[in-house]
Order: sequence, then structure tokens, then C-alpha cells
Amino acid sequence: MFRMKRSPVRPAATSGLLVVCHALAFSACGPGEAASGAAEAPGAGETAQSAAGAAAGGADLSTGTHVVLLGTGTPNPEPEASGPATAVLVDGRAYIVDAGVGLVRRAAEAADRYGAEGLTAARLDIAFLTHLHSDHTIGLPDLIHTPWVAEREAPLKLFGPGGTAEMAVHLTAAWEADIENRLGGAQPSTPDGWRVEAVDISPGVIYEDDRVRVTAFAVSHTGWPEAYGFRFDGGGRSVVLSGDTAPTEAIVEMCAGCDVLVHEVYSATTFRDRPPEWQSYHAQAHTSTVELASLAVRARPGILVLHHQLGWGATPEEMVAEIRAAGYDGPLAYGRDLDVY
Ligand SMILES: [Zn+2]
Ligand SMILES: [Zn+2]
Repeated sequence: MFRMKRSPVRPAATSGLLVVCHALAFSACGPGEAASGAAEAPGAGETAQSAAGAAAGGADLSTGTHVVLLGTGTPNPEPEASGPATAVLVDGRAYIVDAGVGLVRRAAEAADRYGAEGLTAARLDIAFLTHLHSDHTIGLPDLIHTPWVAEREAPLKLFGPGGTAEMAVHLTAAWEADIENRLGGAQPSTPDGWRVEAVDISPGVIYEDDRVRVTAFAVSHTGWPEAYGFRFDGGGRSVVLSGDTAPTEAIVEMCAGCDVLVHEVYSATTFRDRPPEWQSYHAQAHTSTVELASLAVRARPGILVLHHQLGWGATPEEMVAEIRAAGYDGPLAYGRDLDVY
């Protein structure tokens, strides 16, 4: 008989391209527009553009390493952008980074659109959290429970900063009545799919299997004692995700010519119209277009993908122009939900 007191969550440690956006012009891969083929280096002033759907373009997401943007949003409830969440697909398996709102449904949409079985709900069983801000974690109950209802067999493996394991315990407890109902009721259910195996991480290699190695590195996100970026190595490619961060040199060192750099950004131009108290916060917590250009010039990614964009009225074209004007002329895409890189 199920009892929550029997340690529902089993923390292993507590406390503690295809892109595919052809890089040519800008509008970058909107949903359904990611194309197949390696990103090309654009000339100065040009940016990644997509041409056709990955599936239509022949991209096979079941082999190699591909980045699927499941949500590019911020705390602001923009209808076009789900909460921040990214899938790194390595030989068909999905490794999720951050759990913004809408995550499981966006994954299902991508699974359908690209024929990516690893993104179907029952297959989502491993995730990494950059930090515990609500916009990056509010989809966690979804990631814990929805795949279980879809008959996920395995517990969810969850890695994140200190507090992650505790959060998993609280979330599971919050849905205790539902878990008891499904385990003890008439509907079929798997015995362990609702569980979370959560690990509070430290910088360094935090996960490795036969497909991929994941390295966490500290970034600077004001007010958080721990916030991480991640580097994925596997399937012949390297992917770096910044998480939320003020400009940090660790990005340059961890990317160092990586294939894909997914980085957060805000508009340096419209920032000037923000109230002083918000300017102070954003300058300490996030990275402007001008600051990102400086980092990207030295990080030399195969493609820089803008993510978690705060435009405050600036258009995508204007934000890209800010980065170009600040001196970065390498491959660049304005990320949108369901783009593939
Ligand atoms: Zn955020
Ligand atoms: Zn944050």
C-alpha cells in the first residue's frame, strides 16, 4: 500500500543540425521552419534563417545531437513563447534543461512535428535545472506527473542546484492524493513512474551515460547562491546552455568553439527605458545584447542561439542588429519555440 512517508522521493544525494536554421538571413527558425543541414556561417550582418521543417527537410533527430527549443520565454506570459525549456537530443534520447510552463505539451508537439520519439511524454525521464526561479521550474509538476500518466516506467532523474531534491519532495507530497488515487484505483499505472530521483549538484561533470557527458558550471544570477550553465558533449557535437546569467567568462571557456551556444539576452537599447530599480536588477542578473556580442566573439560558437529574450518592445530584428553593431558577426539565430539546431 502506498504511503507518502515511505520516502516518495529518493534523492541520490541531498543537501546539499541539423539546424537547422540555415544561417543566412534572419527571421530564424519559427515553429515548423527549422531546416535540415549544417548551419552555414553567414557574412557580417546576416543571421540564421530557416527554410523548411526539419522533417520535411529530411532531418533525422533519432541520431546525432540536436537542440530543440521547447520554450524560449521568460516569466512574462507571452502566448508564443512557453516557459524556458530545452531538449538536447542525443541519438534519440531527450535530455531536458529547465522546466518552464508548457514543457510536456511543447515536447509532444515537437515529437509529432519531427518524428522524434524521444520527446513523447512517456520517454521524458531526465532533466537538469539551471536554477530554481519559478519560470524555470513551474513545469516540474508537469514533468513529474504527465509522463507518468502516459505510462512512463522509470522514475524521473532530476539534477539541479541545492534545493532541487527538497523541491521534488514537496511537489510529490503536493500531489499525494493523486498518486494514491492512480496507484490504488481502477486505472492502469506503472509502479515507479511517479517517483523522482533528485540530485543536488556541484560544478563539474554531473552526469554521464553511453550517449552524453553533462558538465555544470557556475554562472552569476544575482541573489541565487547557485545557478548553473551546462555543457553537453555527445553524438559528435557540443552544446552549451547559459541558463540565466549576467555576463560571465565561464561561457567563453566552456564553449570555446562549441557547436551550439544557447544564451539568454536582453535588449541593451530598450533597457535604457526601464525603471531604475529594474535596470539595476537586470544589469546584475542578465546579459545584454552588447555584452553577449563580446562574449560570443570570444566563445566562437558554431551558432549562437538567442533564448529567454527580454525585448521590452524591441523586435527580434532590432535585437539581432544590436548584437551585430556590437561586433559579433558569426552565425546567429533568434530562437523561437520548436526551433531545432
Ligand atoms: Zn528566467
Ligand atoms: Zn532566473
